[in-house]
Amino acid sequence: MIDYHCHLDLYPDPRLVVAECLARGISVLSVTTTPSAWTGTTALSKGQLGIRTALGLHPQIAGQRQSELRLFDQLLASAEYVGEIGLDGAPEFKSTWQNQVLVFEHILKSCRAAGGRTLSIHSRRAASEVLDRLERWPGAGKAILHWFSGNQTELKRAIDLGCLFSVGPAMLSSDKGRMLASRMPKDRVLTESDGPFAQLNGRSAMPWDVKLAVAELASMWKATQEDVQNILQGNLERLAASPPTAL
Ligand code: MN
Repeated sequence: MIDYHCHLDLYPDPRLVVAECLARGISVLSVTTTPSAWTGTTALSKGQLGIRTALGLHPQIAGQRQSELRLFDQLLASAEYVGEIGLDGAPEFKSTWQNQVLVFEHILKSCRAAGGRTLSIHSRRAASEVLDRLERWPGAGKAILHWFSGNQTELKRAIDLGCLFSVGPAMLSSDKGRMLASRMPKDRVLTESDGPFAQLNGRSAMPWDVKLAVAELASMWKATQEDVQNILQGNLERLAASPPTAL
């Protein structure tokens, strides 16, 4: 199983979740929300190749944490993966929009200067604004749009730009989420939990809940769950094997 967007460090007992992921053989991209969280979160899975830690600065806190961009730049040389980054256009984050743009553009430029990174990107209510920037800085890396919720035109544009998508059970529980996922090329899809933020039946999603997304994709693609797992694993391997220099 693959959980390509999970906030391992934000669970009440991260070590327990890490141990369970290792026991179940789940490949995890452990994203962070601030550069200052990166070193501690990396230590949670030190020496474990199945769990990769991404250096991030979440758009929802870009207003408060803009000063950590300097730390971001210092750590980037040691970070192969970058996320969670992006833009959030929801009304409650409108007041920090200018900070968000400054932070996101700074990160894309730093990633490009560093030779490109694999990027896990948030684009809630800001899909076009995110795609505009990815188009402007193509050398920033390979973009995986997490929990994509744009419209069909924006989805088409993201596909044309070469983006991948990580989809989770929370996204696939809505009609719109399923409609978007059904229009994504199978070879561009990965699964995610977005735990512990994402909720499933009133509880935090766990990395192993990606099996619910696998089941949903199986019914969408008219394939067995085993076939879906093989497709997703192939997508992950291709992503890991290709250089992150271009979308
Ligand atoms: Mn997230």
